[in-house]
Parts: sequence; C-alpha cells; structure tokens
Amino acid sequence: MTQSLPAVLITGASTGIGATYAERFARRGHDLVLVARDQDRMEALAARLRAESGVQIDILKADLTNGDDLGRVEARLREDEKIGILVNNAGAAAHGGFADQDAEAVDWLIRLNVTSLTRLTAAVVPRFIRQGQGAIINLASVLALAPEISFGVYSATKAFVLTLSQSLQVELGPKGIYVQAVLPAATRTEIWERSGRDVNQIPGVMEVGELVDAALVGFDRHETVTIPPLPDAGQWEAFNGARQAMLPNFLQSRAAERYRAA
Ligand code: NAP
Repeated sequence: MTQSLPAVLITGASTGIGATYAERFARRGHDLVLVARDQDRMEALAARLRAESGVQIDILKADLTNGDDLGRVEARLREDEKIGILVNNAGAAAHGGFADQDAEAVDWLIRLNVTSLTRLTAAVVPRFIRQGQGAIINLASVLALAPEISFGVYSATKAFVLTLSQSLQVELGPKGIYVQAVLPAATRTEIWERSGRDVNQIPGVMEVGELVDAALVGFDRHETVTIPPLPDAGQWEAFNGARQAMLPNFLQSRAAERYRAA
C-alpha cells in the first residue's frame, strides 16, 4: 500500500511566496490548508489549484496577529493528523527604518513575523514528535545576515526565524522532524508595495516562481538553511564555520584579557 502524501498548511497563502508554495505543493499532489486574511483570493487560488491538480484544499481565514484567529490555526495544527508540513510564510516588512515606527507598528510586526510563527510551530511539534515525522519550512530573509541594511525591526525578526529554525533542527532532527529556513533576497511580490517601497528601484530582483522552485530543491535535499540567490554555497559554509569555531571558546570562568580591569 502506498502512503498518502502529507497535507501542507501554508500561512500567507493568498499571494506571493505563499501562494506559489501552494501551487507547487498542489502540483506535487499534496492536499492543502491555506491561511491568510483575504478569503476571496484564497477561494480563487483554491478553485484554480483544485481544477489543475485535483487536490483537496481547505481555507482558514485568519489574521495571525489576532489571538482568537491564531488559536484556531493552532488547534487545526494540533488536531489534524493529515497535516505533515507547515510552511510558516506569512510575514510583512516594516515601513521605513526603526526610528520611523511607532510602538504599535513594531508590536504588530513582531506578532506577525515572530509570535505567530513560533506559536504555530509550538502547536504542531508535539504531534510531529508523536508521529515521528513532519517538516517545517520557515521563511526568513537574507536580511537576517545583513543588519547593515536598514529595514527597521524586520531584519531582527528574520534573524529570530533563522536562529529558531537552526536550533529546532538540532533539537527535533533526531526525532524525525525536518526544519528548513529559507532566506530569500528581494523577490517580486506585494511585500514591497505593502511596506511603501518600490521593488523596481532594487537591482537583482528574483521572480517568485524561481525563488520557490529553488527553495524546494533545498527542501528536497533537507538543507537546514537555503539561500536561493547566493551563487557560492561555500560563502555560507565559511560564515557558519567561523561561527561554530567560536562555540568552544564561549564558556570561560574569566572575562577575556581585553576586558579585565587594570
Ligand atoms: P506578500 O506578497 O506581501 O504576501 C504576504 C502574505 O502574508 C499574504 O498572503 C498575506 O495575506 C499574508 N499576511 C500578511 N499579514 C497577515 C496577517 N496579519 N495574518 C495572516 N496572513 C497575513 O509577501 P511575500 O513576499 O510573499 O512574503 C512571504 C514571506 O517571505 C514573508 O515572511 C517575507 O518576510 C518573506 N520574504 C520576502 C522577500 C521578498 O522580497 N518578497 C524577501 C525575503 C523574505 P493577506 O493579506 O490575505 O492576509
């Protein structure tokens, strides 16, 4: 008997990278659960994908910054044993730099990019552990590695996603769960317009289909970190290697010589 493919729950599936993941996973024969705020767009996408791919698609309209809505998505992840892949894709960028944002905007962005992603992951992980399998794809950004580029609190939210993904892979990998962080650079979606930026001012913008197809190559290889636009994988390996080389040096009973008071 062949085992059926796991269903995939995708957040931010109404447009952009999330909608493209939905299309690609549907083509692979996976049933889907689409999550976002815009029901009409998800209905239209679902109708097209059902017709093209014959898969089952459920729609969960939810604002992931709203506690009740987030709770409903968490419950679905806890209870629906068919869902074997979670794509934490919903996200937004901040308008302007840090000094341009008010406290509410900062809080909203953290609730969407950090809190909802973390809570959805926490909701699904115990069931994945019980089932001995499951996969989580987290959309970070190359800005996680580029604090020099001013994007307000956005870059820090993506650094959180990268670190969380890496540490989850260490903890959960031996339990049969695969966690991937995807780090796109500029990709042509609505995120730019939504955050008051003109994508056409940026050189080297990737089309969304190419981005997701490349990310899925990394997924199929079970990479922990996938950086679709980076030409030389050795640069990431050298960076990660330099970081890891520091680890044995962190635990010291004395402060480093340069910090000791004279
Ligand atoms: P996008 O085109 O703006 O799409 C964002 C998606 O998130 C939409 O489906 C939107 O749907 C959903 N969303 C936004 N706020 C939400 C909320 N409060 N609750 C539920 N869903 C919400 O953005 P994208 O470029 O595809 O971005 C997808 C992910 O990739 C994000 O995490 C982003 O940070 C990351 N990324 C993008 C780029 C890039 O250049 N495009 C680069 C690096 C990383 P509704 O409006 O219908 O809710």
